Amino acid sequence: MPDSLRIAIIGGGIGGLTAALALRARGFDVPVFEQAQVLREIGAGVSIYANAARLLKRVRLNDQLQEIGSPIGGITLRTSAGEPITTPAGPATPTFSKDGQGYNVHRADFLNVLFGALPKGTVNLDHRCIQLKEEGGRVHLSFANGASAEADVVIGADGIRSVVQREIGLQSRPTSEGMMAYRGLLPAKRLAWASDLKDPALWLGSGRSFLLYPVARGRLINMVAFVPTDTDSEESWSAPGELKALAAEYVGWDKPIQDTINALDETFRWGIYDRAPLPYWSRGRITLMGDAAHPMVPHVGQGAGQAIEDGFTLAVLLEGCRADDVAGRLKLYETLRLERTRKVQALARAAGKLYRSEHQNLSERAQRMREWMAQGTWVFEHDAEKAAADALSTMGH
Ligand SMILES: Cc1cc2nc3c(=O)[nH]c(=O)nc-3n(C[C@H](O)[C@H](O)[C@H](O)COP(=O)(O)OP(=O)(O)OC[C@H]3O[C@@H](n4cnc5c(N)ncnc54)[C@H](O)[C@@H]3O)c2cc1C
Repeated sequence: MPDSLRIAIIGGGIGGLTAALALRARGFDVPVFEQAQVLREIGAGVSIYANAARLLKRVRLNDQLQEIGSPIGGITLRTSAGEPITTPAGPATPTFSKDGQGYNVHRADFLNVLFGALPKGTVNLDHRCIQLKEEGGRVHLSFANGASAEADVVIGADGIRSVVQREIGLQSRPTSEGMMAYRGLLPAKRLAWASDLKDPALWLGSGRSFLLYPVARGRLINMVAFVPTDTDSEESWSAPGELKALAAEYVGWDKPIQDTINALDETFRWGIYDRAPLPYWSRGRITLMGDAAHPMVPHVGQGAGQAIEDGFTLAVLLEGCRADDVAGRLKLYETLRLERTRKVQALARAAGKLYRSEHQNLSERAQRMREWMAQGTWVFEHDAEKAAADALSTMGH
């Protein structure tokens, strides 16, 4: 029976949990194996743009998204001195999507919502996958705690240091962008002007940028300050940074930037690394998704969104799939998703270059931003479930 397919997900981050929800909505009961022993409050602001939010609505998470998220409108661009960046056609701040609303959320709040929407017992904590073996039409999974499991399909949602990626014969190497980011979160009430900060605000200066946006319905302000670096920064979300060093990077910049840095209790260093697209994602009954498949630099806020699209695509393609057709469906998934995520990866890379460009001519820079934003709508208007259903129907399913 098609619905008897046993699917297992490795990794209980945003990608793994949303894939479990999307598969559940199509009749699959899917265990998630997560290495962490407890769910911890790690991470800060994450963007869920319209392309991902519209999928989450379909698994009835709209109310929760509204409760924990700050709606995303157009981004406001400023020079390092605070002047609005405009073109003859007006400010370079179009809204990101014509249809559907996106939200900026705190990653920990969002993970709690996803975890809470799954039945108890779905997520198996303290299960670090160490080996996968495909034999006789089944995949055998081994975990560091001595446990084992079997599945007809395995989805590797285990992030940038993916074991599943290694198990299907791949190895991606990180390359530095020559940038790092200082990250921080602070209560909005500490900043007199924060109640006016409804949309993301991005200050662009020579070689660096400074991004602020509200999360948690405006209760918190998320800061990401991109600066050049010639040292290898840790590829970590929790490496401590120095507030003094952060302040030194933005001497003379606009007052809200100084206010924000002065109001922070702590900051974290985040090394920005890029990886070339992988040549393939699937081998037999095993596939990859999210950062395990297509890690990207953060400049268009699509790390979580593309992982969410992957999970919903897999759910459409695996619904009604016979056990002997799994490898074919996973190849179709790879074909559909590899091309799109490769384009998003390239856009993120290009956006990063523009943000840190040395353009002295502001109107030229604004014009380029406007062109880039106009091009970017293909990212936010995409409907991953529809694309997957269309691909299936083209193949006569
Ligand atoms: C701790 C952390 C904090 C983050 N904070 C932010 C942030 O503030 N802002 C932002 O934009 N993005 C953040 N990200 C990245 C963002 O969540 C991802 O880019 C995006 O959501 C794609 O998610 P993913 O599920 O593919 O990967 P991830 O979010 O990395 O999730 C992968 C999951 O797999 C688990 N895992 C790894 N190896 C194994 C294994 N062998 N066996 C079982 N489980 C395994 C990990 O513990 C993790 O829970 C963070 C990621 C992490 C891991």
